[in-house]
Amino acid sequence: MKLLIATTNLGKKIELEKMLGSDVEILSLPDFPNTVEVEEDGETFAQNAQKKALGYAKQTGLWTLADDSGLEIDALNGAPGVHSARFSGSHKDNYSKDLIDHENITKVLRLLEGVAQEKRTARFKCSLCLASPEKVLLETDGTIEGFITEEKRGSNGFGYDPIFYVPDQDKTTAQMSKELKNSLSHRGRAVQKFKDLLTTLPNQK
Ligand code: IMP
Repeated sequence: MKLLIATTNLGKKIELEKMLGSDVEILSLPDFPNTVEVEEDGETFAQNAQKKALGYAKQTGLWTLADDSGLEIDALNGAPGVHSARFSGSHKDNYSKDLIDHENITKVLRLLEGVAQEKRTARFKCSLCLASPEKVLLETDGTIEGFITEEKRGSNGFGYDPIFYVPDQDKTTAQMSKELKNSLSHRGRAVQKFKDLLTTLPNQK
């Protein structure tokens, strides 16, 4: 089976490739330099994933898997939500990913100053969508519940991992190994459900 993953992020491509297994030949957006970027302007993670999957499937003629994910914080009425990647503002091209992550985290910690520990509940969410050029074929999602810490802990992962604490593990997701995080993360859970459903689909390309 040939599958386009709607991402330019090599790390995400490798992570999904690993989780999907070897019978799937994975391509990603850099393999199709003429595609026009699909805007992520949906109100939910599921809407954005669907928009990207259909948009790139139509442009390439390939079955396409897209994901959208982010962090919801209850004390901020669900923010940063679908704006997780750019919560601290739109950045110039010369900002590194690490700097953007740092600024996003700084903003969250500032907004949560004075909020008691038990009220700092939050979750990472991930939606996956597989589409053919004609229609949506599969949709799954995954969630991991936790709390926002008062300072950064750990240096693995990316994004908001250093401030996302998972009580069962007594660790932030930045203190987890890649294997442990993948086994319980929002993305890991969405991919596992996706793999289970994929085997039920007929006529794979
Ligand atoms: P996207 O799904 O690639 O658009 O990611 C949206 C944003 O959500 C990322 O830039 C991160 O800031 C945040 N995010 C999504 N998943 C994770 C995660 O597993 N750890 C930390 N941050 C995440």
